[in-house]
Amino acid sequence: MNNTKTALVTGANKGIGFAIAQGLGALGFTVAVGARDAVRRAEAVEKLCAAGVDAFGVALDVTSDESAAAAAAAIEETTGRLDVLVNNAGISGRIDGGAQDPTTLDLDLVRNVLDTNVFGVVRVTNAMLPLLRRAESPRIVNMSSSMGSLALQPGPVLSAYAPSKTFLNGITTQYARRLADTNIMVNAGCPGHVATDFTGFNAPRTPEQGAAIAVRLATLPDDGPRGGFFDDEGVVPW
Ligand code: NAP
Repeated sequence: MNNTKTALVTGANKGIGFAIAQGLGALGFTVAVGARDAVRRAEAVEKLCAAGVDAFGVALDVTSDESAAAAAAAIEETTGRLDVLVNNAGISGRIDGGAQDPTTLDLDLVRNVLDTNVFGVVRVTNAMLPLLRRAESPRIVNMSSSMGSLALQPGPVLSAYAPSKTFLNGITTQYARRLADTNIMVNAGCPGHVATDFTGFNAPRTPEQGAAIAVRLATLPDDGPRGGFFDDEGVVPW
């Protein structure tokens, strides 16, 4: 088996995902850059390699079962192993016309947001599990948001996006329980309010700051937490 640990980051072509790829690469991981668009994927891989990261591109649309299966096959073929999966890809969904106001909620939009933010995580995780199960200390990190916290309920009313992250936190605990007797550790992280396309670059934190929690959860020691929800400050009430 290849001696270098491999990490797959979904939605790694920009924003927090790109910074997670950079952060894990700096720690010596070979990084599989999961991205759905060929041009954006190639540009990200080129930038990462120029920065000294051992990166390769993996075509991955998290809304497609076929794409997830093909991505697993591509990783197996390229490095023969997968140690870390960071489920970072996510969408907020549009908000025009009261689309995310619960009283006028666009249910097709809810389905789309769930398909990426929740079902996408399940789809990719389950496609990657056979590879992860072969690793010595596999880690799965789900990029969530404090907007999914029922205890905090921060930010605007966003009735597709916020509950999608509540669901994601819920399913994170289900995976952690199901995998409790294995060496696979599953946790969720919140990056804080980060300047990316997602926020119109109107937020105080840098992508690198947002990526830090994912890098930490991806490299937890074997006696680390399971099924938790964390940010840079520690446990996020949820
Ligand atoms: P971003 O800049 O908009 O990047 C999102 C990434 O997800 C892009 O690479 C995008 O690819 C990818 N993506 C979307 N749908 C996909 C699909 N179907 N298949 C594959 N990739 C897909 O957002 P970000 O701010 O970096 O957010 C990353 C994660 O952090 C998200 O899960 C988000 O919910 C979470 N988060 C962000 C903030 C924040 O303040 N920014 C706060 C809390 C949580 P394309 O370029 O192809 O669209």
